Order: sequence, then structure tokens, then C-alpha cells
Amino acid sequence: MGIILRSLVAGTDTEVPLANGKCVTAINFDNAATTPPFCSVLKEIAKFAPWYASIHRGKGYKSIMSSELYERGRDIVRDFVKADKRDAVIFTKNTTESINMLAYALAAENKDQVILSTDMEHLSNDLPWRDKFTVDYVTINKYGRLSLKDLEAKLQAYAGKVKLVTVTGASNVTGYINPVYKIAITAHNYGAKIFVDGAQWVPHAPVDMKPYDSPEHIDYLAFSAHKMYAPFGAGVLIGPKNFFANITPVYQGGGAVGLVSRQFIEWADPPVKYEAGTPNMMGVLALITAINTMSELNMSHIHSYERQLIDYAIKGLSVIPGVTLYSCRDGNEERVSLISFSLEGLHHSQVAEIVSREAGIAVRNGLFCAHPYVEKLLRLSDEEIQYYLTHDDQNIPGMVRISFGIYNNCREIDIFLDLLSHIAGHRK
Ligand code: PLP
Repeated sequence: MGIILRSLVAGTDTEVPLANGKCVTAINFDNAATTPPFCSVLKEIAKFAPWYASIHRGKGYKSIMSSELYERGRDIVRDFVKADKRDAVIFTKNTTESINMLAYALAAENKDQVILSTDMEHLSNDLPWRDKFTVDYVTINKYGRLSLKDLEAKLQAYAGKVKLVTVTGASNVTGYINPVYKIAITAHNYGAKIFVDGAQWVPHAPVDMKPYDSPEHIDYLAFSAHKMYAPFGAGVLIGPKNFFANITPVYQGGGAVGLVSRQFIEWADPPVKYEAGTPNMMGVLALITAINTMSELNMSHIHSYERQLIDYAIKGLSVIPGVTLYSCRDGNEERVSLISFSLEGLHHSQVAEIVSREAGIAVRNGLFCAHPYVEKLLRLSDEEIQYYLTHDDQNIPGMVRISFGIYNNCREIDIFLDLLSHIAGHRK
């Protein structure tokens, strides 16, 4: 399967220089940050470019074609995550923008409630809530997995005051897929809604928002196109049209309105109301083309192929002396295709530099924009964090992360594991 999948992605045979001057085929294990584009996406963008025109703004043939394609895109996205017809599919810039827009809209509705986040969130699903609401965090266990007991205890303690449980579908640090449907049932039992940050989940597993009348229903969902083989800057926010219809949008301007006078503003219906300014039509075309390609491949197949890759990598990493893996490895954990680790005696930035320099392998290192989660997994105290911030910010602890896409394969993982074993063997 790996070879077929590899041919679908652009740039998989790009050569990069090593420290010794030789060139090798680049290996990209940083797909959780951004994936390379699908060939189908690049082809479609080039094909449509001569027809590209401003959408929702003209009676010209090209403008109508562009508008129709953009609107059709909403249905393709809706089908992909099984959203309800009553949901608005709003196109944004990325997950971060989607979450900021949602936080603003929910705060405009009622600020006097609690947002229940978790200890494992990316900063994009943490910071937007902090200045608008009282925020509390569901705790994690020693492996970094969410405590569903603590979720229930906190919902109970806040006695109906929790407005929203906001949780990542899959962690960008440990790769865990959260039990979002169980979380939804619990949240709904206490009268709260649920938002799922789908940035690392939607590109790697089948996602189903479930029907409105199901207790497992996901009320709001966001994700980014650039993490699913579709560059050009599109993102998605999905949630009930009737919620967005009642809230004034954070971004205001042309395109988001019906009629405006000095005295009044008639807002357009959602989702258009939430897309002020000229929308990113080519970004949306890239996203829907990528979704079509992934659907043809079948998300369940993608998920199980990537699971094989990550299981293979975890098995290999586990036997390298000095490697600490920040994740449970009982085989029962639901996960996407990424894992973080450290190598005793070497700073995470050194590991990342060496594998790039010696074998052309791109990995990510640091705190992965999930600082509180990584700090907890590394068992850093507040005093230690403070010390690094004020005295030694070059040496802030962190981890190394490898993350796979559909085009990666076990041969590439072997190259990485061999090199890491070699580095481990030469530590002082
Ligand atoms: N949430 C998670 C779990 C992520 O991994 C990321 C990005 O890495 C984001 C949110 C933010 O995504 P974006 O940078 O596309 O807005």
C-alpha cells in the first residue's frame, strides 16, 4: 500500500544535502505540523486557475462557476465528517482561527459560564478561551491520557455551569485519540456542549459528528486543510446554523451582510455571515480535492495503514537504550500516527539537528505548542519552568516528535531507527 500512496503525494523524491555534501531523498516525519500536497490537489488548482474569479460577487460566468464550486465544497466537507444539514460549514484560515471565532461567539452569547478544557490541549485550543471565560482543565494520568473520572467530577462540581467541554480529537504530542463520543455523552448529561479540535484527528481517522438527537453528537468541530495534503490556507469551523445566526461575528465587513445603511446592518445567514472579506476559494478547492482523494482511499484504510507505521516505529524506539517514550504502549490505546520521545544525554534540538544533517530526516522538537501538556509529561515543576524562562531559555526541556503521513513507509522508519541507535550508542 505504501508505494501506491507515495505516488499520490508531491515531492516525495526531493533530494536534500547532508553535512557530508552528499544528497539523499528527504524523509519527512513532521506531518503533524504540515503535510506535503496531494498531486491531485496541485493538478486541480492548476486546472481551475484559468476559471478562478471572486466568489459571491458577480454575474460573470467565471464568478458563478467559482461560487458554485465553493458552495459545493461545504457539502463535501459536511459529508466527510457526517455533519448535520442544520450545521453551518464555515471556511476559515485554519483551526486556530476557527477556535478563536467560536470562543468569541460563545462569549458573546454568555460569558458567565465555565469552559472545561483539558491538560492535553494545543495552545490554539487553550489560549482563545482564557481571556473570555473561567477555564478549568480536566487532568491526565501518568501516561498523559485524559481522566474521564475527573471530567465527570468537574462537570458535577460546576453543577450545570459548564457551557462547553473543549477537547482535542487527537493529541499532537502523544498521538492519543480521545474517546470523544464518551466525552460527548458525559458533557451532554450535564447540559454542556462539546467542541472537538480535529486538527490531528480529521486527517488520520474516520470522523462522524453523529446525529443531533444522539447523545454522542459533536456540537462543534474545527480542522485545518494544510494538515491533510491541501496547502493554500483553508480551515473549517462547523456548528449549528441557529447558534451562529444569533451572534454578531468577530470579523465584520463586505460579503457578510445583506443590506446596510448608516442605521442598520442586515447580516447574511450563516455560514456567509462568518466569512467577511473575499473568501479563499483556491484554499477551499484544495481542501475539497484532498477530501475527495482521502475518501477514495477510505479513511479506515488510511487509519489502519498509519497505525501499522506507528506501531512499527514504537516497537523499534522501545529497544533503543536511553529512549523515553511519552505515551502508553499497551497496544489498546487508540492513536494517530505520531509519537514523542527523548534521548538521554542529548538535548531534543541536537537530536533533531543530527537526524536532519546525517540522513535528511525532518522531525519536530520542542514543546509542540502544547506547553502545559509537555511540561506535565516531563514532570517539570513551576520553579524549573521559571528558571529556564529567566536564566536558560536555550536549554528549555522538550521532546522529539515523529509524525507520519500516508506516504511514509517502514523502510524510512528503519533508516531513522538505525541512525537513532547509532546516536544512542555514541552518547557520552
Ligand atoms: N490543534 C492541534 C491539536 C494542532 O496540532 C494544531 C497544529 O499543530 C492546531 C490545533 C493548530 O492548527 P493550525 O496551526 O492549522 O491553526
